[in-house]
Amino acid sequence: MNKIIYVEFSEVSDSFEELESTQKTLEKTRILAELFSGSGEDLQEVVLLSTGQPFPSWKNMDLGVSSKTLVKIISRASGRSEDEITRVWKNEGDLGDAAEQMVDNKTQQRLMSKELTVENVVERLQKVAKMEAKGLSQSVDQDKKQSELADLLSSADPVEARYLARIIINNLRLGVAEGTIRDALSEAFFDGENTQEIQRAYDFSNDFSEVSKACRQGLDAVKSIELQLNRPVNSMLAKKVNTIEEGFEEVGRPASVDYKYDGMRAQIHVNDGDIKVFTRRLEDVTKQFPDVVSQVEENIDSDNCILDTEIVGYDPEDGSMIPFQKLSKRIKRKYEIQKLKEQIPVTVRPFDLIYLETPILERPYSERWDNLRDIVSESEDDLKLVDHKKTENPEQVQEMQQRSLSQGHEGIMMKNLDAEYKPGNRVGYMVKLKPVMETLDLAIVGAKWSEGRRSDWLGRLFIGCYDEENGTYQEIGKMATGLTDEQFQEITEKLKPLITEEDGRKVEVRPEVIVEVEYEEIQESPTYSSGYALRFPRMKRFREDKEEADTLERITDLYNNQK
Ligand code: ATP
Repeated sequence: MNKIIYVEFSEVSDSFEELESTQKTLEKTRILAELFSGSGEDLQEVVLLSTGQPFPSWKNMDLGVSSKTLVKIISRASGRSEDEITRVWKNEGDLGDAAEQMVDNKTQQRLMSKELTVENVVERLQKVAKMEAKGLSQSVDQDKKQSELADLLSSADPVEARYLARIIINNLRLGVAEGTIRDALSEAFFDGENTQEIQRAYDFSNDFSEVSKACRQGLDAVKSIELQLNRPVNSMLAKKVNTIEEGFEEVGRPASVDYKYDGMRAQIHVNDGDIKVFTRRLEDVTKQFPDVVSQVEENIDSDNCILDTEIVGYDPEDGSMIPFQKLSKRIKRKYEIQKLKEQIPVTVRPFDLIYLETPILERPYSERWDNLRDIVSESEDDLKLVDHKKTENPEQVQEMQQRSLSQGHEGIMMKNLDAEYKPGNRVGYMVKLKPVMETLDLAIVGAKWSEGRRSDWLGRLFIGCYDEENGTYQEIGKMATGLTDEQFQEITEKLKPLITEEDGRKVEVRPEVIVEVEYEEIQESPTYSSGYALRFPRMKRFREDKEEADTLERITDLYNNQK
């Protein structure tokens, strides 16, 4: 098909120069809108270049060119030595500026070559990106790649070279955010209207080239852009809250409360039974996680869906959770995958479903959760829904928090049951609650025998701080339930020999067991002898290495310094 307008690359680089000369977002939007509305059939390519990358972000492609390689490329394109280019680069502090100067010094060749068009630039950059993508499985012909890029650069005039060079190393830096591109499209095609619809289309497609094409066609086309299988979308992110109460205020009551695992966020697409695993940065890591693929194959009863999950690593010896830091090894590894899979086994913990035969991210979370539950058959060792509870009771939330922390997880997530799924947004539809306060080391000063199944265990623990003034321990709170069975047992064993007095189920113990305690805040309180109460205290670990608890004075200081 013949194109009606050919936009020359110089038009784009002129606009880029203009964009660089202003800090004002409104001004940037106007410059871009003007460029977009005059781009005709080349709009998609022009928009992509404005994002700084010649391909849509969901493709997660890369030209794979380092600054050092770009020096070589500029040298090939300009005939100047690599030393000279490096010198100018250091002087200017920017390789784009260096490319501009070098190309400036070379005139002969360019006069003979044709003008660069946008179409041609994008096509050639994409060709190089494809070579790079192939290189994951076989070695890339670096020489071919460099000569292709050098050829492109040698057809550029100085200003064009500046921006081409920056695009090549993925460092365009025009100060143009996604929101600016969205607003410019709205201004260019809808007189500044319909920004929400454009944003939605971008959230679902992660592709400004597709969105811009739709903008040219009209609002209906924009609205018809939907989530697609095998095209990862940005994950919905969480806001941070400091207290359970704040969490409820943000997400409403009742809320869904989940454990927050310290794993890796993974979006799993099942397309006609074919499974792909994407990281939060939209990288395809399917090859690195064959065990995730088989867990999904076995435990997910749908051939077309998108799951939002946390992949959690565990120690094969004792089954305990391992932190993300260790698990992340598996993301980078491209070889010996089988071996690593045994060293760092994982379980998949789904917590949301955004596609089930059709996009469902606009359904309320409670419905998506029900849909998810329907297609998951849980397995003890592999794939399991996240630990969760629907509740409006802060005590229950606190108990979950304690349990989550004592099992080595990061804390809890609280989620709005009525909310839709907003890709890429840190909206308050889900919030995370992790311990934030400085911990205190406190002594266990008393306890209570539990009831029922655990009647021979000491459950509820009274904790105290040291009052230097009179050399006694003062109570500051009761620690919640929600410890693991092993922890209860260990505590009982430690405390039994220390019991000094017994009154019904309550015992007093010598203050010799020191525990590290997390809490939400310190309050003044007449209930405890210290005059303070810890809000939602929970045990982090035993401080075997310590004999003394923190002092009442320290607690008074902390209390006074709380906002
Ligand atoms: P953090 O450092 O706290 O993980 P973050 O910026 O990486 O923060 P946030 O969106 O702020 O990510 O926190 C939510 C993250 O917690 C998710 O991206 C996900 O990887 C992880 N997570 C663990 N368990 C859950 C769960 N049950 N529901 C949702 N997210 C979970």
